[in-house]
Amino acid sequence: ADKLLEVRDLQVSFFTPAGEVKAVNGISYDVNYNEVMGVVGESGSGKSVEAYSIIGLLQNPGKVIGGSITFEGQDVLAKTPAEMVNFRGNEVAMIFQNPMTCLNPVYTIGNQLMEALKAHDKNISKEEAQKRAMEMLEEVGINNVEKRMKQYPHELSGGMRQRVMIAMGLICHPKLLIADEPTTALDVTIQAQILELMKKLQKTNQMGIIFITHNLGVVAEICDKVSVMYAGKMVEQGPVDDIFYAPGHPYTRGLLRSMPRVDAESYERLIPIEGTPVDMLNPPEGCPFAPRCESAMKICLQKMPPYVELGDNHRAACWLCVQEQMKAQKAAEKNN
Ligand code: SF4
Ligand code: MG
Repeated sequence: ADKLLEVRDLQVSFFTPAGEVKAVNGISYDVNYNEVMGVVGESGSGKSVEAYSIIGLLQNPGKVIGGSITFEGQDVLAKTPAEMVNFRGNEVAMIFQNPMTCLNPVYTIGNQLMEALKAHDKNISKEEAQKRAMEMLEEVGINNVEKRMKQYPHELSGGMRQRVMIAMGLICHPKLLIADEPTTALDVTIQAQILELMKKLQKTNQMGIIFITHNLGVVAEICDKVSVMYAGKMVEQGPVDDIFYAPGHPYTRGLLRSMPRVDAESYERLIPIEGTPVDMLNPPEGCPFAPRCESAMKICLQKMPPYVELGDNHRAACWLCVQEQMKAQKAAEKNN
């Protein structure tokens, strides 16, 4: 598969008056063209922070302090602010949970879509921009586009605004779309429609997608692979089927257990698993999940577990997995 994005050992810290918070603490992954990677984890696990780093939108006092981000061979972290603006307009787009963070309340929908196009291509004619904006609105399932073009964001329903935001994100044909809980605020039917739409547009544009969510129903629906984050670490990563049917990390298993049954209500939010999330100012030594883990052993409290390969492109950072691997190796040696 062709690699679009490569993230290696990324570290992002927030330097707060109370101390350093390692919001993202050494994570690595790839996203290929035409691939959807889900990022799951609780709030505060670092899943949004790592995405904001890719597009250069980290808020103060957040700082990338280590690692690399490579996009089609370009070093993203070396880009100047002006190059980043260009990068965001042309190559990556981001859609958020709240459309009002992306839509400007004082401009019409048509105006905003056409401006996005003009920023991308200065030579585009007004007629052409208008035509493309209306086509894009139709593509995201909006009817009556001539009327919609003249409306302001507040005149539209929540679901409609979400679609407009997706249209804004996709109108310049980004190679990578970062979607941060883009459907959480919507009702189930509209959520399902928007996911369908994203899948369709992804195929036609060969786009890579990073889909950040804490909803495993959505992950099952749309993702090819999954990264599970806990306390700034990527604790498990693998193809979507491996994550659902052969999870290695106790935290992933906990997430799956807390997932509502996959039926009509499968888009419901996760029920939180027991125990308190990590105090990120004073993270425990060793495995960050240890205080909540029913399988925790002595070593878990002392040393961060290494990654163990559990299958093709499937790995988890857990001492239990290390133990099981050693057992399997010993058994194999005996048989030889
Ligand atoms: Fe639990 Fe230990 Fe694995 Fe951490 S390393 S998830 S504490 S078994
Ligand atoms: Mg978030």
